[in-house]
Amino acid sequence: MTRYIQRPSPNFDARTRPIDLVVLHYTGMQNAEVALARLTDPKPVAGNYPGPWQSEDVEPDAPLPRVSAHYVVDEAGQIYSLVPEEHRAWHAGVSSWEGDGEVNARAIGIEIVNGGHDFGSPDFPDAQIEGVIGLLRDILRRWPELNAKRVVAHSDIAPARKADPGEKFPWKRLAEAGVSIWPEHVTMQLSSDDPVSEVQQELAFIGYPLKQTGYMDEATKEALVAFQRRFRPSDISGVMDDETRYLLIAVGRMVK
Ligand SMILES: [Zn+2]
Repeated sequence: MTRYIQRPSPNFDARTRPIDLVVLHYTGMQNAEVALARLTDPKPVAGNYPGPWQSEDVEPDAPLPRVSAHYVVDEAGQIYSLVPEEHRAWHAGVSSWEGDGEVNARAIGIEIVNGGHDFGSPDFPDAQIEGVIGLLRDILRRWPELNAKRVVAHSDIAPARKADPGEKFPWKRLAEAGVSIWPEHVTMQLSSDDPVSEVQQELAFIGYPLKQTGYMDEATKEALVAFQRRFRPSDISGVMDDETRYLLIAVGRMVK
């Protein structure tokens, strides 16, 4: 049994939905201690959390939104428990999955300590990924609505705003450990009469937030980038190429 360090956060309230989703994040901060301080601070002030993630037009003494997660996993794989799973933590922000905008109400949030895109996209150490896998195994075992298909990225639920945990996060390794999914490569005849509508339908079917416009709009491109970050990290251009279309069909078959 994995041991969790208790680091209680006051930043939570009551759930309004049953738990049926897990959202993975990176912290995007310098180190674990700064992230833990921010995620447990009931009165966060801008100047106390300096860094490139903070926009320059924020006054140094301006209050920041209160945030939290249920767990933090540091680079050594040590797990911190901040908010009991039964409560709603505040990690998803403006987001949506499967047409439902109340993600925090139904999700368990895990923050993985990593500087992310603002700090040179460092690798995720093996020990850290082992820690994430162990934590997910523990969580998935305890909640009946949860399984490997129910683990998503922050970038999946907020493609226009978020890029975490990022294309360097090893989703395939998580899938091999049984705590995420990874598509088999499928090839088939792709129809060509209305590929954009087909792609929009596949993305929405999987859960991505976008409207069925029938043309390649910004939201569709952002959802494609988010999809590629997870399932085709070697090329996250957002271009609707054949390989992406195959992968969309493969993932769609896996998740429902
Ligand atoms: Zn996040």
